[in-house]
Amino acid sequence: MVDSDAISRIDVPCALCGCGEAEVRYRIGEFRVQQCVQCGLVAVNPRFPEEETSHVYEAYYGGEARVQDTDGEKCYGGYIKDVERQRSRRVHLNRIHRRRLRTLENLAPGRRLLDVGSAAGFFLMDARERRWEVSGLDVSDSAARYARSHRLAVRTGTLKDTHLEPESVDAVTMWEVVEHLHDPLRDLLTLRHALRPHGALAISTPNYDSVLRRIRGGRWHGFKLDEHLSLFSPQTVGLLLEEAGFEPVRLLTVRTDLLRARRALLRIRGRVPDALYETLRLGQTAINESLGKVIFFPWEKLLQGDVLEVYARKR
Ligand SMILES: [Zn+2]
Repeated sequence: MVDSDAISRIDVPCALCGCGEAEVRYRIGEFRVQQCVQCGLVAVNPRFPEEETSHVYEAYYGGEARVQDTDGEKCYGGYIKDVERQRSRRVHLNRIHRRRLRTLENLAPGRRLLDVGSAAGFFLMDARERRWEVSGLDVSDSAARYARSHRLAVRTGTLKDTHLEPESVDAVTMWEVVEHLHDPLRDLLTLRHALRPHGALAISTPNYDSVLRRIRGGRWHGFKLDEHLSLFSPQTVGLLLEEAGFEPVRLLTVRTDLLRARRALLRIRGRVPDALYETLRLGQTAINESLGKVIFFPWEKLLQGDVLEVYARKR
C-alpha cells in the first residue's frame, strides 16, 4: 500500500477559469482553502498530482486487507459490511436512491445509466431494480470488484483513462465525486460526449455555501483536504455545468445533519455491545431526520443546506 503522506503536493491554478490568483479563506494544517478572485471557485492547495489518484485512493479505500477491515475510519470495507448487515442503513440509502432515480426518470431520454464513482454499487443495484440498464466506473479496484461480484458492469479506472462510447448512455450520475476531480471541466466534457442528445446528468457535492460550514468553520466535514479538491456552491456548480455544455434544470440542497458523531461512534464500535452501538447510530439518524430537518428546513430552501444536488441536461 502506498503511503499517501509520502507523495509531495503541488499548487495548481483555478480548475474552472485558469486564474492563478485566489484569496485564502482557511488555513488548515499545511492546506489552504482558497477562492478564485475571478470565478469564485473554492479549491484546496497544495494537492497531490493527478497521476497519483489511484495510489492515493487505493491507500484510502483499497486493498484486500482494507476491504476485510471493519474498524478503520476511512476504510471502505467497514462501510460495505455495515450496509450489508444493517437493514435500516440499506433502507435509508434505498430511499435516497429512489428519490434521485425518480427525478432522473423524468429527465433522461432512455434507461441506460452510467454511475461515475459507483463505489460498492449500491446505487446501481437500486437503479437495476427500477429497470435501468446500468454500468459503473470507480477508481478503487477493490470497490469495483465488490460491485462486479454483484453482477454489475463496473470498470476500474478514472474518466481520464477510460474510453466511453460516444452517445452511449441516457443518464450519468456522480454522487459525491466532482469535488474529488482534478479537472472537473475536462471530465464533464468527456461525460457530455458519452451522453445521448438531451441526456441527463446528476451531481451531488458538499455545498460550500452550507450554513454548517459557516457555523463550524475549518472543522466543517466538507473539508477533507486531501480528497476534496474543489468545493462548489450553487453559483460555481452552475458555472461548471454551463461551461461544459449542460443546462441546469434542478438544483436543491439537502442533508444538513444536526448531529455528526461519526468519529465518536467509530471509536466506540467494538468496545460496546453491537446492539447499543446500533441504537446510538439509529438515534443519531432519527434526530437528523426529524429535529434536524425541521431546524434546517429554511436554510435548505435558501440553498444553504449541506449537500448540493444538481440535475442538468445536455445542450
Ligand atoms: Zn476561477
